[in-house]
Amino acid sequence: MSANLEAQIDFLKGVGSRKAEVLKKEFGIFTLNDLLLHFPYKYIDKSKFYSIKDIKNNLNAYIQLKGQITKLELLGEGKGKRLVAHFQDETGVILLVWFNNLKYIGESLRKNVTYIVFGKPSLFNNTVNITHPELKEENNEEDQKLRIPFQPFYNSSEKAKKSGLDSRGISRLCFQLLSEQKNNIYETLPAYVLEKLRLIDRRDALVNIHFPTDTQTLQRAINRLKFEEVFFLQLNLLQSHHKREKSNVGFYLPKVGTLFNEFYHKHLPFPLTDAQKRVIKEIRADFISGHQMNRLLQGDVGSGKTITALLLMLIALDNGFQCCLMTPTEILANQHYETLTKQLQLLPVRVELLTGSTKQSQRKQLLPAIENGEIHILVGTHALVEDGVVFDKLGLVVIDEQHRFGVEQRAKLWKKNLSPPHVLVMTATPIPRTLAMTVYGDLDVSVIDELPKGRRPIVTHHFYQNQRIKILEFLRKQIAEGRQIYVVFPLISESETMDFRNLVEGYDAFKVDFPSPQYKISCVHGRLSAEEKEREMQKFVQGESHIMLATTVIEVGIDVPNASVMLIENAERFGLSQLHQLRGRVGRGASQSYCILLSDVKLTAESRKRLEAMVSTNDGFEIAEYDLKLRGPGDLAGTKQSGMIHFKLINILKDEKIIASARNLAKAILEKDPTLSFPENIILRTQLEFLQKNQSEYYQVG
Ligand code: ADP
Ligand code: MG
Repeated sequence: MSANLEAQIDFLKGVGSRKAEVLKKEFGIFTLNDLLLHFPYKYIDKSKFYSIKDIKNNLNAYIQLKGQITKLELLGEGKGKRLVAHFQDETGVILLVWFNNLKYIGESLRKNVTYIVFGKPSLFNNTVNITHPELKEENNEEDQKLRIPFQPFYNSSEKAKKSGLDSRGISRLCFQLLSEQKNNIYETLPAYVLEKLRLIDRRDALVNIHFPTDTQTLQRAINRLKFEEVFFLQLNLLQSHHKREKSNVGFYLPKVGTLFNEFYHKHLPFPLTDAQKRVIKEIRADFISGHQMNRLLQGDVGSGKTITALLLMLIALDNGFQCCLMTPTEILANQHYETLTKQLQLLPVRVELLTGSTKQSQRKQLLPAIENGEIHILVGTHALVEDGVVFDKLGLVVIDEQHRFGVEQRAKLWKKNLSPPHVLVMTATPIPRTLAMTVYGDLDVSVIDELPKGRRPIVTHHFYQNQRIKILEFLRKQIAEGRQIYVVFPLISESETMDFRNLVEGYDAFKVDFPSPQYKISCVHGRLSAEEKEREMQKFVQGESHIMLATTVIEVGIDVPNASVMLIENAERFGLSQLHQLRGRVGRGASQSYCILLSDVKLTAESRKRLEAMVSTNDGFEIAEYDLKLRGPGDLAGTKQSGMIHFKLINILKDEKIIASARNLAKAILEKDPTLSFPENIILRTQLEFLQKNQSEYYQVG
């Protein structure tokens, strides 16, 4: 590590105290090294000029033109007032347009001088326009000097621009930095890695990512730095995984005893799917591995994760351990509690429920029974791990529908017990492979990739508000056939009052369309107490009400096989994975189920795409990939909070190859040299320790 690159950014020539302040505040650049790793987000090839006649095929990309101004006009009034220049080369004419600084620009432009124009053309009234182009005289001397074939573009902000730190300003600093410090740039990868993967060295890569000379070198620079970015993350994840495996001796659960066998042979309500059986096998192997299990169980909505978890819990009980099942909501905890109690009623297993709304008196009775091991399975919201619950012998923790349950929270669980229990995190939100490799690199993954037999695919339709009458007709028909219906309203605002009103208005309208006593409606919303919620829920579960009106609280987990229609109001306001979750509430019984997406007539392009995606596929993996494409990885549920996914260069969608090769190499190295102590690997350890110290956000993994 060079001490020089560690120096504060203030020491760079050209950075006064004001600029230093802005660099720190706006970009998080504190040291020279930080600036070195502040990369351009795009480049413009300035070695090429476009011909005006070719522009129409290239709209909306930045281009460079060479030509002359033939005419200048001031047009419009007030806000529409603009300066328009007719600009031509040998092949055609376009318009350059300015809305600001008209006087100054108008006076500085000259006819019959050759200009280099740079900007993004668009079509307006069937004429090609470039609004606010960059414009320079071809023979500008200063410009000739600074001329680089690829102009790098750096993100900036309004505030930074005011201090001279627009893209060019930042580029200038990078230039200064590289001329002062180029020789202090150190290598972070061993020679054998560079050779094996044919990567260029780090100094060349960093020089070229800021000031590339051609596309090929730029590509090689980006490749090298992308690899480095994901490689160290993998090293870190895998190494902590190794360490934990070594230090966390896992409970040994070899026995498949009477509880499991009784249930499996006498009480299992249906044959398991092959996928369910395979997952149980995989997890049984973990139970006898001697290491503590940390496993993610992925399975689309309705794939039957609950019964799989139940069977695994029975194995834990057969070996004399307790289990707990945690859920994100009380409603779901209640339902799991009901289901388990019913399914296990003929077995000597005590199941209890503990949530935020468990009464103090009840709690007082439960706590000792948990502590002395009388309670075998404890179901609850995950608040239950946070406060004062002590188990006798907790062997397995199942966490339902909480893929956000990050590394840190899991770590908390381990600390609660003297020995950490096995942990199974279940989720219906499919995690694209690349993400699984990076964010969840420390978890093993099992997948239930098969739905129970006899399910008919859910039919999804998109309708507009003005087609309501037709839909109500359809709902009445379904009810007449004995089916039940979910109606979901979006959480529109942060304000509970607003959402409540929204739901209440919907409720009132439904009461008119589905009058009592012929029809019964349950309504669940945030204003009800947990008990009232539960009562409303139960009416629906027991088949006493026909329609269940709710905000998104029913999104996860709830299971009512007789429900055949999921009607989603204002579907355009939901995210894709949320819509898919909601849809998964139906299609659980044998009858044909429907998902109806109701939306406003006016839709943004993005909402339209989301709804189209929902109509076109039932496959949760496809939906997740689609979601990732539409929203970008930065937004993916939970990843932001987990702070694990802010890559500078890596694109989770496109760089699967690089991610996989980085992961494989990291694995291979750690297998031979888990502590990175071989002489050729010391360089890796040094860099890893540096990152752990400086990039706490990504490198703190329990
Ligand atoms: P999820 O994976 O979404 O949590 P559930 O565990 O709630 O799904 O299961 C959905 C429904 O499918 C439940 O009604 C459950 O009883 C039923 N089910 C689970 N496994 C099977 C199976 N192998 N065959 C038939 N039905 C099943
Ligand atoms: Mg579930």
